[in-house]
Order: sequence, then structure tokens, then C-alpha cells
Amino acid sequence: MKPPIKIAILGATGSVGSSLIKIIDQNPNLIDVQSLSANKNLDLLASLANRLKPKKLCVAAGMAERLLAKLTDKTIIIYEGEPGLVELANDKQVDLLFLLVAGVHGIKALFAALKRGIRVGLSNKESVILGGKLINQLLATYRGQIIPIDSEHNALYQCLSARRLSDVNRLILTASGGPFLNYPRNSFPKITPRQALKHPMWEMGSKISIDSATMMNKCLEIIEAHYLFKFPVAQISAIVHPQSVVHGIVEFKEGSSLALMGQPDMRLPLSHCLGIGGDDINSGVPFMDLTKLGRLEFFEIDTKKFPTINLAYEVLTLGEGAPAYLNGVNQELVEEFLQDKISFTDIFKILQISVERVKYFFHNLSKAPQFLVNQQTLDDALAANFYGQEFVSKLFKSKKTIF
Ligand code: MG
Repeated sequence: MKPPIKIAILGATGSVGSSLIKIIDQNPNLIDVQSLSANKNLDLLASLANRLKPKKLCVAAGMAERLLAKLTDKTIIIYEGEPGLVELANDKQVDLLFLLVAGVHGIKALFAALKRGIRVGLSNKESVILGGKLINQLLATYRGQIIPIDSEHNALYQCLSARRLSDVNRLILTASGGPFLNYPRNSFPKITPRQALKHPMWEMGSKISIDSATMMNKCLEIIEAHYLFKFPVAQISAIVHPQSVVHGIVEFKEGSSLALMGQPDMRLPLSHCLGIGGDDINSGVPFMDLTKLGRLEFFEIDTKKFPTINLAYEVLTLGEGAPAYLNGVNQELVEEFLQDKISFTDIFKILQISVERVKYFFHNLSKAPQFLVNQQTLDDALAANFYGQEFVSKLFKSKKTIF
């Protein structure tokens, strides 16, 4: 019998992590969990550790002792913070790393895993947006592999595997449209964080829920697709598909298209990634009854309502640190919105202002910070992201009347 696949799960207690745990419970003899990480959810991490018996854990800085008190096996090695995530990625026992954390904190672990040349199941889109150019260099040098866990990208990955890349005309990502697809535009300024956190199709963390509501999530996913699949941005588009049954479509030059369908359930892309080594993974997701699906609808995205989509094309035309900068700006704006400090429509306004700012730098290179216009290292990528965050916080500190 084939030995079980040895995995590390970075972000085990989040919404994607919980889906992965369900698959592990369905396939106990096929998957061997070497390590788990969580940020601050110590109770859930401890109960997972006591049940799955990993050798190593990682938690937020300063929390190791409190975690240890909750563990039955006191010999488990516990790391802390971002350096701890890198330790888990560097573990020679691990064949497959799942990077499921939210935000930019996973990028160093991703780089470490790619330098080991292993397979990475990646739902952390920020790392690709920040360091896409560098990630592709690492993949080419060390021959690692990224399997996208983001449902749209996983669909495109599977459809692209079926044909020659030179046959492809266009990649199409689907978007559920978020909670405000049919909401009148003139009511947008009154949208509250509570309303925006309610997604119609997917249960997700708060950052990605707000991003779905502004459709910034789709903007970030277009950027992600550009780096993951290396197609020019002109060949990548997005359409609204409220039912979230078709996740991605690849259009071929002769005129036919290949689409991937499935329930909106993260266990599907996760099971695909786990099964690549040849294992028969039971996802636990029921088969779709096509006769009960009803109508599948597809619409163009209303970019007047959701101008965020166009930002992807603007920053990808610039390249280098521009996508990382945009990510940083958005990250900060989502925080401000969740704390009720800005309105929903302020997010759109400030994103647009920030893109004008970054364009200015690319047209006036002598005035631009090098990390923004010439990305060479991981530190450059992180600096560009931070520069975006700082742009927003400075804007608020200066109390400029921008609205
Ligand atoms: Mg997605």
C-alpha cells in the first residue's frame, strides 16, 4: 500500500482549513498531518492537535505556552508567528503544504516551500498578488508546483490541463456578484459592515467577504490568474454567475469552451489538490443533480457599480510592485470599513485615488521608490504592500478632505 501523503496545514482553523479537516476525517488512511498552524484560535487548534496528532504546531507570537497547556501530548514542538510558519514549510517530512492563511503573513512560508520544490495547495491569494513575478522565478528554478485552491483558479487549472496552452483564447473567471449584485447603486453609501459580511453563496472570513461585496475579490483574482497561468491580462476576464456552479471557463481559439462545474464547496478544490499524487480522495461532497439545478445565469459585470474590476487591468499594465501596492491599500481600507471609519463607497474612491498615485510613480520613475517600480526581492514585495497600507493611513492622519 502507498504510504499516506504527509501534509502541513497553515491556517487550519479558518474556513478553508475547516473544509480540509473534514476531508482528512473522511480519508484517515490516506493523509498524515505533520503540522498545523492557527493564529489565535487556541481551543480549536488544540482539539485538532489532540485528535490528529501532528508533530509540530505554530501559533501567533506569544501564545505557545497557553497552547501547550491545552495539549495532551506535551512533546509537540510549538513554533510562533511568521518564522514559525517558515519552519513548518521547511520541514523535510512534508510533501504537500497547504497555505490557507488569510493576508500577507503566509508569503515567506510559500517562498520557503517553493525553494524545497514541493507541491503547495494555495488559497492565500495575497502572496501571489504581492510576489507573482518572484514566485514564477522560484517555480522555474526549483520545479515546485502550486495548485490553486481558490475555486475559480482551481477550475481554470483543471480546464487548462486538458489542452495545449497555445490553444487558449481567453480565461474567464466567474463571480457570484456578492451580496449587492442587485442593490441599487445610489444605496451603496449606506451599506454597513454587517450587511457586507453576509455573502449569498460562500461562508468566508471577514476580509474576503468585504472584498466580495466590493468585487475587489474578483479584481485580486484577475491579478492572481495572470501570475498563476502567465497569460497576458488582455486574455483574462470575469463575468457574473450568481449560482456559483460554474467556477471557471477556458475559451479555446477554435471557439469551444471548457468549464468546471461543482457545488460551491471548498472541499472540491482541496480534494483535487490532494488527489494529484494518485490517491482516491473522497471529498464528501455529494454529486450534483443537474436536473435540480434550475437556471444557470451569466451576466457582464456592471463596472459602473463595481469599478474595482478595472483596477486589476490598470495595475497589471504597470506590473512590478503595483499589484502589491493595490493589495496594501485595499487591506487597509477593509480594516477602516469594518471599524466603521469609512463608508462602503469610500473604498471605491480611495482605491481609484491610490491607483492614480501609483501610475504617477511609474510615469515619473526618478521620484518612485525602487521597490515599487522594480521588484527584485521578497522584501520589495512586502515594502510595496506596506507602502499601500501607509498611503491610506497617512490619508486619514492628514485629515485631507478627499470625499
Ligand atoms: Mg475565489
